[in-house]
Amino acid sequence: MAGRAAKRVRPPTLLLRGFLLRCPRCGRRELFSGWFKPPDPCPGCGLTFNRDSDATVGWIIVNLGVTEIVFVALALAVVLITWPNVPWTGLTVVVVAVNALLPVLLVPFSRTVWAAIELLMDRMDGPARAP
Ligand SMILES: [Zn+2]
Repeated sequence: MAGRAAKRVRPPTLLLRGFLLRCPRCGRRELFSGWFKPPDPCPGCGLTFNRDSDATVGWIIVNLGVTEIVFVALALAVVLITWPNVPWTGLTVVVVAVNALLPVLLVPFSRTVWAAIELLMDRMDGPARAP
């Protein structure tokens, strides 16, 4: 991992690259061969995105966490804006759709954001783990 030690990336840059579907470590694009396929190891730096079951749990947590934050913010905004005449039926349809579709849309983003979070955690724990 000489490339990793040689080039340190700031935490906001790591996370931004994750949100932009880039390799958080080196910034390389086009990591995915399909929406639901986990990315292959990065051809630029060798970062692996699905190392173990912890990584799978991690990206699912990111995925569902973002979905629920959007769900709560959207529902709260509609309730506050339209109070006391809240369109409950329409709101229910919209939030069910958000909870069904957003996790699907977020799959690749969740994988790269979680990889960025893993890099940050490794950094905070000290030296990188052995591959
Ligand atoms: Zn890379």
